Amino acid sequence: MNPSKPQHYRIIACALLLLLLMLAPFLLGARRPPQPLPDSPIIDMHCHTAGLGAGGSGCFVSEKLRNSFKLRFYLKSFGVTEEEILREGDALVLRRLSAKLAESKHVSRAVVLALDGVVDEHGNLDRARTEFYVPNEFLAAEIPHHKNLWWGASVNPLRPDALARLDWAKTHGAVLVKWLPSVQDIDPADERFIPYYKKLAALGLPLLTHTGNERAFTHAHDELCDPARLRLALECGVTVIAAHAATTGEFANEPSLDHLAKLMTEFPNLYADISSLTQINKRTHLAKVLSRPEFTSRLVYGTDYPLIAIRSLVSPWYFPRELGLKQTVAFSKIKNPWDRDIAMKQALGVRTETWTRFESLMSK
Ligand SMILES: [Zn+2]
Repeated sequence: MNPSKPQHYRIIACALLLLLLMLAPFLLGARRPPQPLPDSPIIDMHCHTAGLGAGGSGCFVSEKLRNSFKLRFYLKSFGVTEEEILREGDALVLRRLSAKLAESKHVSRAVVLALDGVVDEHGNLDRARTEFYVPNEFLAAEIPHHKNLWWGASVNPLRPDALARLDWAKTHGAVLVKWLPSVQDIDPADERFIPYYKKLAALGLPLLTHTGNERAFTHAHDELCDPARLRLALECGVTVIAAHAATTGEFANEPSLDHLAKLMTEFPNLYADISSLTQINKRTHLAKVLSRPEFTSRLVYGTDYPLIAIRSLVSPWYFPRELGLKQTVAFSKIKNPWDRDIAMKQALGVRTETWTRFESLMSK
C-alpha cells in the first residue's frame, strides 16, 4: 500500500530531523586552532611487539591468552597472522612494524618495549603466572637491524640480578625501562627497590610504568598501578613516565588522575605519556589531561601501537563534536596509523613541545 500524501511529508520530515540530529555533534562543537607540529623529529616512545617463541626469540604468551580472542586481535593489528609468525619467526612483527613506521610522514622513530614476567619467591621467572613475555635479549639482538627503532628494556626488580640486567640493557642500547606492575606483580612502593631506583637514576634510564587500571590482559592487580606508589622512585631521582597518565581507575576513593596530578606538583622528574587516550573507552581522557595545569609541561608522546591501528578502537568518528565533519572525514582517510594518531591528537589540543619531549628525558 502506498502512503498517502500527508503521510509522505511526515516521513520526509522525520528523515530530515534524524539527519539533522546525526549531524548536530559535527556542527555544534567549539574547536580551538591546533598548535603546529615541531620541525624536529617525533619519537613514539610507547610501542609493543608480540612473539610466540618462533625463531628462538624466547618470547611467549600464556596458553590462556593464546586461546583468547585478544591474541588474534593483537596479531591482526600488527598486520601478521599466527601462521606467518610460526613460519618466519617473531622478528617478523618488528620488520612489519618498522616498515609501516617508515611510511609515516611525521613519526621518525619508535621505542619498542620488552616485557618481563612475574618472578617467584626463589627469584626465578614464574612462567605459569606470566601471561606475555618479551625478553630484553630478543629486542637487543633484533632492534639494531631497524634504524627507525629503539628499544625499552623490562626488568622485574624482584630478579636477584636485576641491577646487572639494568647495566646490560643500558650497554645494549635500551633507552628506557618499562614496567606493568599490576601484571608483573611489582609493588613500586617496596623499599627493597631503592638500589634498583638508584641504579636507574645513575644510568639515566627513565622508568615508563603503567598507571591506572589495566584491561589488555586477562587479569591484573590494579592497586599496584596507583600513581601514589611511585613516590619512592621519584624520591630516588628516577625520571618516571606514568603510562596513560593514570586516566582510569580510582584508588582510596579518589580518581587515579588526581593522585598523579598531586605528585606532579611535588616532583619535577615526573611525566606522563598520552598513549591510548583516544581509544573509544577513553574518549574524554585526552581532553581531561590537557585541561589540567599540572600536566602542561609534563606530557610525552606515545601511541601504545598496535592499538592505534585498530580502527574499531581508535577512530576520528568517535570525536564528532571536537573534530567536526570535515576533519573527521579527512583524518579517517589517513592510512598510516601514526599519521592518523598525530592528526587526531594535534586537532584535539596536544601542544607542540609534547611531540619531542621524550628525547630531552633520555639525557636527564
Ligand atoms: Zn602499552
